[in-house]
Amino acid sequence: MVERSPVFDDDPGPVAPVPVELSSHPARHCLGVDTEVFFPVSELGVLQARLVCTGCPVRVACREWATATGQYGIWGGTTREQRIAHRHAATIPAPEPVRPAVAA
Ligand code: SF4
Repeated sequence: MVERSPVFDDDPGPVAPVPVELSSHPARHCLGVDTEVFFPVSELGVLQARLVCTGCPVRVACREWATATGQYGIWGGTTREQRIAHRHAATIPAPEPVRPAVAA
């Protein structure tokens, strides 16, 4: 089995090029982890992949990049579905503040 990091992978897999600040970070937790781990096919696999990302020093940047570029798989400790939901929530305008009724 070939061990590669998803952020160090030069296959055409990612939808957009991985930023060098992610792919070259020496302390990223997925360094040396098999890429397949980040494309799980079960809930247990999702948990295992997210566990790798826990505490990764580039987790936030990784998640933001994956959200912005529509990546598949686990990035920044999140699933694609979580990133899509977060993206939609960010585009929904905040509700108008509720004003208390004033007695006449
Ligand atoms: S957050 Fe996860 S996928 Fe992103 S660089 Fe860190 S370990 Fe890799």
